[in-house]
Amino acid sequence: MNEAAMGLAPYAVSAANSRGRAIAEVTPAERSEFQRDRDRIIHSTAFRRLEYKTQVFVNHEGDLFRTRLTHSIEVAQIGRGIARALRLNEDLVEAVALAHDLGHTPFGHAGQEALNGCMLEHGGFEHNLQSLRTVDLLEERYAAFEGLNLCFETREGILKHCSLANARALGELGRRFLDDRRPSLEAQICNLADSIAYNNHDIDDGLRSGLLELEQLDEVEAFSFHVHEVRREYPDLSGRRLIHETIRRMINAHVLDLITETRRKIAALAPRSLDDIHAAAQLVSFSDGMHVQQRSLKIFLRDKLYRHYQVLRMTNKARRIVSDLFAAFMADSSLLPPQYQQMATAGLPRAVADYIAGMTDRYAIREHRRMFAVGEI
Ligand code: MG
Repeated sequence: MNEAAMGLAPYAVSAANSRGRAIAEVTPAERSEFQRDRDRIIHSTAFRRLEYKTQVFVNHEGDLFRTRLTHSIEVAQIGRGIARALRLNEDLVEAVALAHDLGHTPFGHAGQEALNGCMLEHGGFEHNLQSLRTVDLLEERYAAFEGLNLCFETREGILKHCSLANARALGELGRRFLDDRRPSLEAQICNLADSIAYNNHDIDDGLRSGLLELEQLDEVEAFSFHVHEVRREYPDLSGRRLIHETIRRMINAHVLDLITETRRKIAALAPRSLDDIHAAAQLVSFSDGMHVQQRSLKIFLRDKLYRHYQVLRMTNKARRIVSDLFAAFMADSSLLPPQYQQMATAGLPRAVADYIAGMTDRYAIREHRRMFAVGEI
């Protein structure tokens, strides 16, 4: 089905207003341009690696926790629902959601911070920018171009934020950060679908791991409201079913609030084109009440889960692994695999960062052992 037949809003991204690809290609048969982007992302190496990269928990901690792969699929599912309700381009939302974490280092934020620390003197490391670098350059799959040659709007959605210095270096794609313009509504949706997904699944994984207790969540309104409702309706329910029933209601409440508030803002602005969206303030948003709830949920997760001593022990080790590897490769580039030695001719630090960022959690752990465990020579 083409995009006009899908009944897209006039301000949605479509083939008609897309800025296209860096290298022109023949229009795909039986698919939209954005379906093609999504398909290229799913077939990429970086996408498969998401299965073995973590958000909060180290990948081998347990088979039940979210990985970046399941997280990305949840973001796509939440984002598509919102896009369809608002008559926006679902295929674009799906493509951006599935690609948004491709540039993440192993070990979640600990890995990102460590690598950024190592790269401070060499232009820094930002995972959004690395996701873009992955689809623009690092994926080597096609005969006619480097990277995946994705549409401008998909790349725009992947680059959620970046520093002004990097924005300047990026040319057209970085312009909106300098000119203070907003990305498409589809990109804005992915941004908030991302936080709906991780706030809710981190509560779920936190409870499942035993690092969080159900009672602690009494202070979190976004959760306690729903858990009380569920208990009222099902007094005998407990354990996993109580938690899951509560979280599914939380996700639903977030999504409905976002759709209602965004629809209200769109109606007030009455945009007629994609250009009106770029010029307007952020339109995809929660109501004020939900925004406050989200904030306190985030603070709760930061204080009680991300800074839990057992999580900090993991992240401390993760940071060591990343910094040790970085230092070793910087000291002797001949220890790098040949492909990265080749890339290092254009600059060693960036090649080392690309190599480390591409690692899965377990690959980084193994590589660290190979490099430093003298007992295993
Ligand atoms: Mg994410």
